[in-house]
Amino acid sequence: MPPRLDYSRQCAELEKIARLEPRPAAPSDPAAGLAAPSPAATCLVCDAGPARPCDRCGGVAYCGDEHRRLDLRWHAPVCPALRAIADDLAFFAAHARPWLEARLLARAGRTAALPTSWDAWLGPDLAPVERRCLSDLATRPLTLAHLLGLLSEHVPKDISNPTAIHVIAAAQRERDVSPALWRELERLHPDRRFAITLIGPELAPGDLGPGVRAVTALYRRDLWPALGRPDLVIGYDCGLLLYPTWKPTMHDLRGSGVPFALTSYRAWEAAGEARLLRAIGAEPLLAPTPNPFASLSARRSSTLANDLAHDNAFMSAWR
Ligand SMILES: [Zn+2]
Ligand SMILES: [Zn+2]
Repeated sequence: MPPRLDYSRQCAELEKIARLEPRPAAPSDPAAGLAAPSPAATCLVCDAGPARPCDRCGGVAYCGDEHRRLDLRWHAPVCPALRAIADDLAFFAAHARPWLEARLLARAGRTAALPTSWDAWLGPDLAPVERRCLSDLATRPLTLAHLLGLLSEHVPKDISNPTAIHVIAAAQRERDVSPALWRELERLHPDRRFAITLIGPELAPGDLGPGVRAVTALYRRDLWPALGRPDLVIGYDCGLLLYPTWKPTMHDLRGSGVPFALTSYRAWEAAGEARLLRAIGAEPLLAPTPNPFASLSARRSSTLANDLAHDNAFMSAWR
């Protein structure tokens, strides 16, 4: 489990988030119990161990009922989602990635038109856990396919040249997307071919498959002579507000004539990024909006036990 803030700081952070982003109401019957003490678990509130995990989600543990009740305000609204995360992790552990991808692509083959929802692309008849996990594998290429549909008039189309996509702030999660999944782009946009370059400072370089390569670099415009000028730049959950290294990159891109798209975990993060980009003179092509191809599988915060987010939940586009 990643290092967490102490409990009072966690509560202060959750208060802040709750002001920015109203939480779902707690379930009407929040009377979850506690499982048997687990040697590895410590109490979320006081750090005492061995503590007893929540018997619904297993995602947090308490020394006893007093501290469970104290934390109920924060835990009850996310308990079902933490249960779903545990189910998703078990599903991923039980199925090899190539098998999951083959299943995904077999389902994806059903749709011809550019889909506008996971149901349209995956079909509506999947078990919830499989639907969430398959969406998690495909969220990056499908988000890109969707954005290309929205931005088509801004992304040059030249049948003799592939559409060059630069994926900035790329990390292992982007590298893990198989070339077969990136090729869905060509099936969904049959009037284009694609050349995808993943660029990230800690990315292992290499050719990953036809039309997909990885390059180790911090993304700047002075890479264009070497990499080629992109037709579209995209950053998946790159945390513009969190990492000052991206500011020069945004200065490079705004006004360059190349459209760029960003995704974010949360609405207020997307709104903050939009303020920053407007302040440096970027022009919105697509104001921050919920992404229909966000991952349905939630990701737990590394610092807050009762917090979670979805990859690519919001998207915006600029030039
Ligand atoms: Zn305790
Ligand atoms: Zn729980």
